[in-house]
Amino acid sequence: SKKRGKASWQLFDPSMYESSLRQLELERDLRLSLENQDFSLYYQPIIHLETGRFLGFEALVRWIHPRRGFVSPAEFIPIAEESGLIEPLGDQILWTACRQIKQWLTQFPHLVDLSVSVNLSSKQLQNAKFVETLDRALTTTGISGQYLKLEITESILMGNHESLTSLFRSLLKRQVTLSLDDFGTGYSSLSYLHRFPLNEIKIDRSFINRIETDQQSREIVKIITTLAKTLNMTTVAEGVETLEQAEYLRSMACDMVQGYYFSQPLPEAEATAWIMNHAA
Ligand code: C2E
Ligand code: CA
Ligand code: CA
Ligand code: CA
Repeated sequence: SKKRGKASWQLFDPSMYESSLRQLELERDLRLSLENQDFSLYYQPIIHLETGRFLGFEALVRWIHPRRGFVSPAEFIPIAEESGLIEPLGDQILWTACRQIKQWLTQFPHLVDLSVSVNLSSKQLQNAKFVETLDRALTTTGISGQYLKLEITESILMGNHESLTSLFRSLLKRQVTLSLDDFGTGYSSLSYLHRFPLNEIKIDRSFINRIETDQQSREIVKIITTLAKTLNMTTVAEGVETLEQAEYLRSMACDMVQGYYFSQPLPEAEATAWIMNHAA
């Protein structure tokens, strides 16, 4: 029939074939790059809005593929999650961030309130050994958890409430800050939020970049900052690209900002130079 004809045609859709081929190749190459340690972290400055003071960085993974060049984490993180490679990759990222914190604290001993935010995949947190991994990274590099923020996404909050709460509590015992990333894009954010011991909300970029043009986004930002205050959480706005956005956020008493208006994510040497120029 016509229908079947169409379905079998779709099976051979060359663009689909190409993208799944690319996915398979990327998975193979991820494996190789993990062994070769081809990943690096870039660091995007986070700024205290009221005082303009530099507070820390968000660590963002970068992969320079030997043949393809730069591959976006938005493309390879999902592949790493599906293939189970996110565990070893996530470990490498956490260790690299902890070593980097140690290096900066040694070089800049006055930076007592520095923090580096590390993105976690839900898969990493679901691993029963995550706290052990974290403890080993903290102990071996010799840093306190107070310098580390862990960014998690709303999807993790859909899991078992009791075991999650006890996981969060053991993380908080290590003095790490728990930050809820991409807030507003997930499921029933509001109904879940007050039930968990979280410290910080990151307002998703999709609301920030519509501040100048969309009344509704302005209202949403206002609601989120108010909600955070009520729940005793701090707020970070991500993806701030203009002075106007920063000023609106300041008028909403948003605590922290990051985005191209202040700085792109920086490679290690430039991040170190940023500290020297802004906090030394
Ligand atoms: P995210 O956690 O929401 O990270 C913010 C993204 O926005 C980053 O993209 C950052 O480079 C980008 N960005 C920052 N400021 C601006 C701005 O002003 N304008 C615009 N248009 N973009 C801005 P990136 O580095 O490509 O990362 C994409 C996503 O990949 C991240 O979104 C995060 O979900 C994931 N990711 C990145 N690094 C890691 C990592 O180390 N571990 C895990 N599990 N996921 C990561
Ligand atoms: Ca993030
Ligand atoms: Ca985010
Ligand atoms: Ca986002």
